[in-house]
Amino acid sequence: MNNNPLNYTDPSGHKLCNYEKGQSCVTENTFQKTELNHKKHTVESKYSINISGSWDQDELDQLDNALLKAGDSAGGFNNIINLIFGGNNDDDNQELTFINALGPQARNMCGGGKSANACWLEKSNSIVIGDEVFTPAYQNKMRRPKEIGLYANLPLGIQTTINHEIGHAVESGIPFLLISYNLSVDNNKAFGGSSRESFANAFAFYIVSDNASYPGYQDQFNFISKLLK
Ligand SMILES: [Zn+2]
Repeated sequence: MNNNPLNYTDPSGHKLCNYEKGQSCVTENTFQKTELNHKKHTVESKYSINISGSWDQDELDQLDNALLKAGDSAGGFNNIINLIFGGNNDDDNQELTFINALGPQARNMCGGGKSANACWLEKSNSIVIGDEVFTPAYQNKMRRPKEIGLYANLPLGIQTTINHEIGHAVESGIPFLLISYNLSVDNNKAFGGSSRESFANAFAFYIVSDNASYPGYQDQFNFISKLLK
């Protein structure tokens, strides 16, 4: 698949052609669908995941970036997959699915809460990401908290949200993980209203900040660091 639009000419004004590859001309719509499918399959095979729902090119790039960061922190994304499914040999469906849904649909899938823009669905091994997560407004809202100093102004909302949900997936895949987290850290609610949310945020913050350790939160980040090693 050739991604360079300069290689395509448009003699009729309505169709895109790739003479170099001997392909027949296609409508722009068909061409874009083909490119989108290609990108989707590339990301799916790169991380051994399943992608469904209404993703566009930019959103697929954002997902790709978030998973790349997660993989960088764990010595490869396959190690994250192993954490999620490693202890679940009786589970037939061992594929992680990322679903992009429109706002109302995402909130519905995620239990109906007004702020439910994304969630982990354990029964279907799926992570739902609502369309709102990809808007600039959400990016700004989700700037990382001031505790993380150096990285506080980086607009990493999408990566934080995707990796937060992956954190939930990892937590649900490892027996007694939260108990272990509660015993290992001095403040098990440092990053969220509950131990579970705090763990998911610590997991995401560790990944999006390139494994930085923040003053005052070393034990949270040491815990994630050991988990991903
Ligand atoms: Zn959460």
